[in-house]
Amino acid sequence: MKYEKVIGLEVHAELSTETKIFCSCKNEFGSDQNTNVCPVCLSMPGMLPVLNRKVVEYGVRAGIALGCDIPNFSKMDRKNYTYPDLSKSYQISQFEFPLCKRGCVEIDVDGQTRKIGITRIHIEEDAGKLLHQSGYSRVDYNRGGVPLIEIVTEPDLRSAEEVKVFLESIKANLEFIGVSDCKMQEGSLRCDVNISVRPESQKEFGTRAELKNLNSFSAIFRAIDYESNRQIDVLESGEKVMQETRRWDDTQGKSYPMRDKEEAHDYRYFPDPDLVPIYLEDNEIQDIRDSMPELPAAKKQRYIGEFSLSDYDASILTNSKFTAEYFEQCVLQYPNPKAVCNYIMVDLLKMLNESGMEASQIPVPAGDLCGLLKLLEDGVVNSSVGKQVFEEMFKTGKPPEQIVEEKGLKQIDDTDAIHELVLRIIRDNPKPAADYRSGNAKAMTFFVGQVMKATNGKANPKTVNELVKKELDG
Ligand code: ADP
Ligand code: MG
Ligand code: ZN
Repeated sequence: MKYEKVIGLEVHAELSTETKIFCSCKNEFGSDQNTNVCPVCLSMPGMLPVLNRKVVEYGVRAGIALGCDIPNFSKMDRKNYTYPDLSKSYQISQFEFPLCKRGCVEIDVDGQTRKIGITRIHIEEDAGKLLHQSGYSRVDYNRGGVPLIEIVTEPDLRSAEEVKVFLESIKANLEFIGVSDCKMQEGSLRCDVNISVRPESQKEFGTRAELKNLNSFSAIFRAIDYESNRQIDVLESGEKVMQETRRWDDTQGKSYPMRDKEEAHDYRYFPDPDLVPIYLEDNEIQDIRDSMPELPAAKKQRYIGEFSLSDYDASILTNSKFTAEYFEQCVLQYPNPKAVCNYIMVDLLKMLNESGMEASQIPVPAGDLCGLLKLLEDGVVNSSVGKQVFEEMFKTGKPPEQIVEEKGLKQIDDTDAIHELVLRIIRDNPKPAADYRSGNAKAMTFFVGQVMKATNGKANPKTVNELVKKELDG
């Protein structure tokens, strides 16, 4: 029997406000342990939280970007559970009245557009971080009280590929509107995956499992794959899937049921009496709406329309705020969008990928890439030397002109000199020359290759091709 996956996500993103959600401690990643803390975020008895208005603003921005309704009224609730990373034994979150409701994100997968419903977005505090050692654990409360948004989707996703595109879209949107840096490796974007399977002909959803502890895109995809197969096996053997929370073990590539205590779902939510409700006037919501930047989806359409980029290229460039900004800066200085796009898509992204760097770390200034494109356009270097120059720019941060100068990489355009070289190489290699003349057209590439090699790749390839052909044919 064929089965279909049904997936809903709970995405947590840390907001990049200056300070925490209920106190004025710094919201900063990577500080020494337990240095960004105060009685409020250490949850000392009797301390009073005060809601950071930036958190509300950021949450609303996220809601608008993801097409949500923004109600005028919302409030904070206590979610009760005991765990050492949260010493007051409740997390301040939202339950009945979240900040944003009923949104929608469109994703394109395999040439099809699908609408993924957003159930709600709420704001809450993060817990501290447990640092497990052998035999004991330590707690770092720097993360305690860091503001989070939780984005809950409808069970609208149907494959790991859709989850990937959806998460990339969430990441791009949050990055563009400047509310989160969405670094999965630093834990500022985290995601729980709810998944069930059903026979393809069946309307009703199957029973779901919730997978926790997914810290990377690859973990998410492997977990979806593993868990859907596990559920199919359960169904095929005539048993029932249990509704449960499971922990993903990335090293073993398996999911395990969580211990009862961890999955106790009775949180006994109740209103937090220490915090006043949040009232947002229509004009306040409108002000935030008016301050929104161009969002990735609109940017993508603009790139297609204004710069005639392909759908694919435009998607990749607008997948990250940093590549989009970089592309736009380049186009301002070198108004040939296609050429700029090609260099970013092929060479820059390849180098970033190979060096394990993020789009936020592009080491080549936009002006330098434009400088290189100019050198290529003017024929100062040929395209293969251009790639060599670019690699050097990427590694050393030096401008292209300097690299070309220092390494003597200028293209050789001196037709007479190239001609002489062509004649000599043909004379020295009578066999391939005879092969060519007896009908083996491919033998020509041998001569072009030899000439390029003799000039360290610097000869103008067009001239070389023309002259080799002329001499062999003549
Ligand atoms: P809970 O409060 O127990 O987490 P929710 O109803 O809020 O339950 O659902 C949480 C997530 O589970 C949502 O993202 C939702 O889309 C997803 N979900 C609900 N039912 C299913 C199902 N049958 N299969 C897959 N995902 C589901
Ligand atoms: Mg849940
Ligand atoms: Zn604090």
